[in-house]
Amino acid sequence: MSGVTGHSADLPILPGATLGVLGGGQLGRMFAHAAQRMGYFTAVLDPDADSPAGRVSHHHIHTDYADVDGLARLAGLADAVTTEFENVPAPSLEHLAVARPVSPAASAIAIAQDRIAEKAHFTRCGVPCAPYAVIETAEQLAAVDEQLLLPGILKTARLGYDGKGQQRVKTRAELVEAWQAAGCVPCVLEKMLPLEFECSVILARGRDGQIVHFPPQRNLHRDGILAVTEVHPQNMPKTVAQGAVNSARSIASGLDYVGVLCVEFFALADGSLVVNEMAPRPHNSGHYTMEACDVSQFELQVRTLAGLPLTAPRQHSPAVMLNLLGDLWFPDGEGDGIKPVAPRWSEVLAVPGTHLHLYGKLAPRRGRKMGHLTLTGATLESVRANASQAALLLGLPALA
Ligand code: ATP
Ligand code: MG
Repeated sequence: MSGVTGHSADLPILPGATLGVLGGGQLGRMFAHAAQRMGYFTAVLDPDADSPAGRVSHHHIHTDYADVDGLARLAGLADAVTTEFENVPAPSLEHLAVARPVSPAASAIAIAQDRIAEKAHFTRCGVPCAPYAVIETAEQLAAVDEQLLLPGILKTARLGYDGKGQQRVKTRAELVEAWQAAGCVPCVLEKMLPLEFECSVILARGRDGQIVHFPPQRNLHRDGILAVTEVHPQNMPKTVAQGAVNSARSIASGLDYVGVLCVEFFALADGSLVVNEMAPRPHNSGHYTMEACDVSQFELQVRTLAGLPLTAPRQHSPAVMLNLLGDLWFPDGEGDGIKPVAPRWSEVLAVPGTHLHLYGKLAPRRGRKMGHLTLTGATLESVRANASQAALLLGLPALA
């Protein structure tokens, strides 16, 4: 298995060339910004004419991800291609890789797209996951060990994100009902674990196998969606942080991965870690790197794609990231005839050390990621105090 395919030489792709991305969401937008800052042109393939990345890119191809003509146009424009979301069809990446360097490789994306393959990969790498069972057939459903796995979470093997495609089940009857509600598609049932906290590691791996990583992030989720990321040396015990980095490195090396990879973990009360899932791309929990580190996760994505040198990132400021979901535009609830009202940005931006990112999405909706706010500052205390104030102004819960 090779991390990069379709590239005849190991020569770097230098600024002035065009970098392509499959997917036009906010991650593609921030990739385009990073690439453009370094002097690259960008090309985005996304079916949505108003896609956040398409609107800031030099080229925007409006076709479906599997459209052969669209892929050919992308290959014609771009000198190398990456992806910004894992549900892009792996065959599209394979198709592009015939003509252009593509990273991450389709084989790595295919594993990340499927929780069953993903967990098997973690196990192969010696990284433990939560106890789970694969449920693809009625026989496997009937064979579930209730003692071991309930209460649990039934997750569809494919196409889940932000907690979608997940159902919490306490009894066998609920499990049967949940699998039927999911359309009897392949699923995994995971034991519900008592989480001490959640964390993630973002790393970049080059074509030569070199790995650099950011310090592990501590993440708080609300309703299955990332809400807050905190990154500073006191955010978790050192042994947990080191264990997470080691596991993420093994997972990336085991895939012969090229690109930016995020691995999400659950930390348990006894100090142990289990891996949750991976994202074969920059991750929401790494957005703080744009202001708090000397190189961002998006710049590392550019560097890995272009075959440029990787340097170890240095975090120069403690950081707190608050996600801005569409809910903030509906302080009095969403419903028929209720118009969205933008949060009071002027007041929020008066808080020292705030960096506002809005993704240019036209319609706010509950649960939709509209942007994020990163807070940086000289000390952890000041950053946390300012983040709490910003949260209060936005109507978000206070920091724990
Ligand atoms: P995303 O892709 O946005 O990260 P997702 O839809 O793929 O999310 P998961 O990461 O599997 O979903 O789960 C979302 C959240 O649900 C986790 O971050 C965690 O808070 C909770 N969760 C998931 N699995 C478990 C588990 N086995 N035990 C306890 N909590 C869990
Ligand atoms: Mg997740």
